[in-house]
Formats: sequence, C-alpha cells, structure tokens
Amino acid sequence: KISLQHLSKTYGKREILKDINVTVNDGELVTLIGPSGSGKSTLIRCLNLLEAPTAGTLTFNRQKIDYKLNRFGQLTRKSEAQAAQYRTKVGMVFQQFNLFPNRSVLQNLIDGPRRILKVDRGTLEQQAVHYLTLVGLRDYQAQYPAQLSGGQKQRVAIARALMMSPEVLLFDEPTSALDPEMVNDVLRVMLRLKQAGMTMVVVTHEMAFTEQASDRVLFLEQGQIQFAGTPQALQQEPATSRVKQFVSTLD
Ligand code: ATP
Ligand code: MG
Repeated sequence: KISLQHLSKTYGKREILKDINVTVNDGELVTLIGPSGSGKSTLIRCLNLLEAPTAGTLTFNRQKIDYKLNRFGQLTRKSEAQAAQYRTKVGMVFQQFNLFPNRSVLQNLIDGPRRILKVDRGTLEQQAVHYLTLVGLRDYQAQYPAQLSGGQKQRVAIARALMMSPEVLLFDEPTSALDPEMVNDVLRVMLRLKQAGMTMVVVTHEMAFTEQASDRVLFLEQGQIQFAGTPQALQQEPATSRVKQFVSTLD
C-alpha cells in the first residue's frame, strides 16, 4: 500500500533517520515504538510528506510519489500542491487533536472536505453523522471543542480524518495527551477501524494495544529500525535485546 525505501532525513548536519525501509500492506496495522527523540514522529510525518525526506523513495499503491526540495530542504511549491492531494489519501491524527476551536464539531468535519473535495453540503453532513456515530459522538454535532473531553476531541479528530475517505491513517501518539480513563475509548475506535480493514501506522507507547492490534511492530532507535516483526516475535526476543529492554520500561 505504502512504502518508504532508503529514507534518510537530516536536519542541518544531524542525521535523524538513516536508510529506513518500511512497507505497509493493505489492511495492516503497523505500530512504531521507540524512545523519545528516536525519530518516530519524523518518520510518520515523512509517510505523508508533512516532512520532506532528504533522500529516499516514497510509493503509494505502487506509484512513486515524486517530491522536489528547494534549497531550504522543503517541498517546492509544485511538490507541496501534489503532497496536499496525496495527503487526502493518507490522513493523519495528532497527539494534540488540532481541531479548530471556533468551529462546531460538525463544521470541523465538513469544512476541510468542502473546500478540497468539492462535494455538496448535504452529502458531507450525512457522511459526518455516519462517522460521528462510528466514534460514538452522534449527539455532539453542535458542540464546540472546548466543551469536549480530551478523548472526545480525539475521536472527533479521527472522524474528521475519515471524512476525506483516506486509504491509510497515520496516528502520532493519539492517546498520549489523554487522561487514563479516556485512552481506551480512543483505542477501541482504532481497533474498530482496523477490523473494518483500514490500513494504519500508529506511533504509541500503549503496549497492550500494540500486542493486541498490530500485525507488525517496528522499534526505532537512533534513527534506525532495530527490530521489525510480529507482536509474537517481539515476545520471543531475548530479555537482553534492546527492544525488550525498551518495552520493559513502558510496563
Ligand atoms: P518523542 O517520543 O519525544 O515524540 P520522536 O521519536 O517522535 O520523539 P522526533 O520528534 O521524530 O522524535 O525527533 C527526532 C529528532 O529530530 C530529535 O532529536 C529532534 O530534536 C530532531 N528534530 C525533530 N524535528 C526537528 C526540526 N524541525 N528541526 C531540527 N531538529 C528536529
Ligand atoms: Mg514524537
């Protein structure tokens, strides 16, 4: 579905990601774990070109996504326009929700697609109700973000991402900003999406979710993938391995 080959990313002289190879297949849920500063956010942002890779090949549905950088290492204007199109297919959910505070839940869902997809308002409203129902917030259309709990905000953010009919959803620590009692509401929605066949890449520290929901786990350390395998394979790693030591710090 989506793949990065020989990805590297440098900021100035610092090499943050080094020769990363990741392939995510249709319907797979891949979790990305690793210590703070290991490059998880940078990697997941490269997957939808929110961050411009310094080098490497990005393919989506077997098509190469071309990107060109200007002398500041950012996407050129033309590449940025193409990337915006590409991002409608590869959506992103952030730790901090990024909802528009002065728009209602319904407006948060339909304003973006209305501008980008040029679909009529009635159709979008129907879709919005459908996705709000899916995340358990059917009755919250008229509320404003400030009136919602963290877990509710995050579920609105997920519903909003779904409005673009993405083929892949990326999550960067979607539950890290939530009170513990809200975490499971969000994870349950993600599990439901996985069961519905959504392709997902998830940066998380939630090991129970990682073990239960992922097809594959990638352990990133110092900008390199140090372990890639199923949750079962992770279980069988020797206690002395770096990934096992890291996981033990999370429990
Ligand atoms: P965390 O678990 O704390 O979110 P992370 O694994 O997501 O960490 P990244 O945010 O990807 O790590 O950062 C990896 C490295 O890249 C860090 O050393 C960070 O300081 C550096 N970095 C990230 N963004 C930038 C930037 N815009 N400019 C310069 N350095 C950056
Ligand atoms: Mg991060």
